[in-house]
Amino acid sequence: MPSSSDNFHVLVLGGTTEASALCRYLEQEPSISATLSLAGVTKQPHLPTLSVRIGGFGGSGGLSTWLKTHAINAVIDATHPFAATMSQHAATACAATQIPLLRLERSGWQEMPGDTWLHTANLAEAANLLANSQKWNTAPQRIFLTTGRKELAPFKIAPQHHYLIRSIDAPDPASLPPHATILLDRGPFDVQNEAKLMQDYGITLLVSKNSGGSATYPKLEAARLLRIPVLMIDRPAACPNISTVETAQQAVAWLQAHQAASTRRKV
Ligand code: NAP
Repeated sequence: MPSSSDNFHVLVLGGTTEASALCRYLEQEPSISATLSLAGVTKQPHLPTLSVRIGGFGGSGGLSTWLKTHAINAVIDATHPFAATMSQHAATACAATQIPLLRLERSGWQEMPGDTWLHTANLAEAANLLANSQKWNTAPQRIFLTTGRKELAPFKIAPQHHYLIRSIDAPDPASLPPHATILLDRGPFDVQNEAKLMQDYGITLLVSKNSGGSATYPKLEAARLLRIPVLMIDRPAACPNISTVETAQQAVAWLQAHQAASTRRKV
């Protein structure tokens, strides 16, 4: 990968399809030196040919130091819509170091005719509803729980239900509610197979974060077809006053504009 100290240095905070798409563009941009940062949550992530670093920075202070040490010119926060802590740290560190920050975030899913969504503010609220609401406290459900392997423990407070849990890597057994079936798989998924899966397991309720994107949307289409209700966990609030785009292409255009401005300042 061509790189020099004259290059424009970018840090991409990743762990998403959008970050991977952006990295594919940046692999073709020799005048931009990009580093992809991953939290290290997925055991075998898909890696680009760009420079990659793995693991936390040690909070916003650690990130500020890292940005200065590596002479970073711009940061793209392409973390997952639910990775709110990392986004907040990026906003704080970029404000402190005066490094331009762009948020690359796919839009959320919208409820469509035929959908039955019940919105909840967060995981804890969803689990609390399953445990205590009149609708579900004495009516055991067969739940397709797709919130990710790190976010299962809250559902232990609703042990009367059976959970079909799908994740990329195996969850910690200690985090599981008592009646759980584990399915290890990684998207993209398609609607026919999602519908078959839900029928085979007799699913009566889908629990999902509003992650957005196409890779995992077919579960919602399948729920619509089968008239299965969805407990939808809404997104955490976005950091205020951060420029935001939805596509990797728009992020590249933003980077090129900042690179051009930085070159003009040098001459
Ligand atoms: P989070 O709660 O916002 O972040 C927790 C801590 O993990 C951060 O404070 C940071 O540690 C570290 N971290 C997060 N993203 C990082 C990155 N890209 N590079 C380096 N360190 C990172 O994040 P999360 O929800 O656990 O998500 C972790 C990763 O999984 C993110 O990359 C995210 O894009 C991806 N992901 C998350 C979800 C989800 O539903 N949350 C779904 C799919 C993918 P320090 O404070 O030490 O810097």
